Amino acid sequence: MPEYYSGNVVDNHRDAIEEASTAIETDLFIGGKFRQSEGGDYFETVDPTVKEPIAEIARGQKTDVDAAVSAAADAADEWGDTVPPERQEVLRELAERIEDNVEEFTLLESLDSGKPLDVARGEVERAAEFLDYYAGVCRSIEGKQLPYDSDALIYTRREPYGVVGQIIPWNFPLVMVAYKLGPALATGNTVVMKPAEQTPLTALRLAREAQDVVPDGVFNVVTGFGEEAGQPLTEHPEVRKLAFTGETTTGHAIMKSAAERAVPVTLELGGKSPFIVFPDGDLDVAVESVAGVMYYNTGQSCDAPSRVFVHDDVREEFMEKFIERTHEEVVGDPLREGTTMGPLASEAQFDKVTSYLDVGRDEGATVETGGGIPESEDTEHGYFVEPTVFAEAQNDFRIAQEEIFGPVETVISWSDYDEMIRQANDTEFGLAAGMATNDVSLANQTAEKLEAGNVWVNKYATLPPGTPFGGYKQSGIGREHTRETLLAYTRCKTVDIDTTHSPM
Ligand code: NAP
Ligand code: MG
Repeated sequence: MPEYYSGNVVDNHRDAIEEASTAIETDLFIGGKFRQSEGGDYFETVDPTVKEPIAEIARGQKTDVDAAVSAAADAADEWGDTVPPERQEVLRELAERIEDNVEEFTLLESLDSGKPLDVARGEVERAAEFLDYYAGVCRSIEGKQLPYDSDALIYTRREPYGVVGQIIPWNFPLVMVAYKLGPALATGNTVVMKPAEQTPLTALRLAREAQDVVPDGVFNVVTGFGEEAGQPLTEHPEVRKLAFTGETTTGHAIMKSAAERAVPVTLELGGKSPFIVFPDGDLDVAVESVAGVMYYNTGQSCDAPSRVFVHDDVREEFMEKFIERTHEEVVGDPLREGTTMGPLASEAQFDKVTSYLDVGRDEGATVETGGGIPESEDTEHGYFVEPTVFAEAQNDFRIAQEEIFGPVETVISWSDYDEMIRQANDTEFGLAAGMATNDVSLANQTAEKLEAGNVWVNKYATLPPGTPFGGYKQSGIGREHTRETLLAYTRCKTVDIDTTHSPM
């Protein structure tokens, strides 16, 4: 760890931004080349720990999206004709490029999003792991031969769509690039990607590696704002498939755009996931499962277990342990060793989370710990909030129904099983759920009853590559991280040949 990471937070960050400067790309990546936006405009990406700009990033517009889609369309035939072993090589090499530059990617990710270095490093490694997963699973693409007519050869082919538009959020910047790019390239599609305005740096840094590894036009990055760069991408007639991760309301808008051209969409949206503590559950396991994810990434995870349903019999003991665990969070400079929680990623997120701290109080929930802004030299310049636990909440409170997307836990007590299940499902979302119990039958029955795409028992949010991830209800459409994802990026063509024709 360089010396300066132990100094004053503002100086630390200025030094770190300077150190990172050679890793920073600021322009759009189109057809294998970095270039300015057509209007020549830029916007700032900000370091949320000190609220200082890191770099000026090209502000992509519709004309830039048009250029990127055109580059992707030009590359689509050749890339679509490659066979899986060739695509596997490309994906594997891209993964290796991340592995070879982990520290550079880590510093960029940490500065851009406020993630502690260890957290950022883990995610950078995860991005490489997912590209590697898709490199492997790409070999499993195959069609079928259908034996339903003895006078015919009927078979299916899985073909790429061509140009895919992908729009991603700021909470897991490079990981999201890998989640989206992996299956698209594995299946022979070309990509135009719009990273979030708050966190464009690692996508652009990966584009620099892609210059050597991925054929020109196969992967394009258009940075900019949602309305200016994202929306034109969703409306472009040559974009044949859309994939989006972000807020549910944005997901609705994207689906509407796609509906105009009957373009298929996969959506990974918001969540308000329940975690159920049963009276027989191991409370240490319950506490760590919840806190380990709720406070990870300053609570900015779509699958965070943000509603805890604790059985009355164990409520007191659970609360005691949970508050103790909450106090173990080290909130501070993400560049400082030992920090477990950095700032929220942006001013907008800070305003949103702090407003919910007031909402919770006004609704009558009790603040068991936190509830404010931390006061320290490390935190005074940035978008920091305290890890917060609200108790005595009701499931119909806004803090239990709306996605806060910060380190704010809402604890609800229960005694009647059926009523608790009804409440756990009583939300517009259905991304994930968890529970702590040692009763296998109870775990199975409860998993069946929960309306959620992922259910964890005595753990939470472990998502190794290969395990499907995605939402029920308003949490999304489609599954990522798995072989099934490849189906969403391919079209099925059935070929039926009359085999009775004699050539002679
Ligand atoms: P967001 O505001 O919906 O933005 C996501 C992306 O969409 C950004 O790149 C954004 O551009 C762009 N965008 C905004 N409006 C658009 C439009 N009209 N047309 C096309 N693109 C548009 O979401 P966020 O605040 O970045 O991310 C947080 C949300 O993501 C949370 O709700 C969280 O639950 C969800 N999330 C879900 C998952 C999952 O897998 N289910 C994972 C992570 C996060 P800008 O750069 O201008 O914002
Ligand atoms: Mg946003």
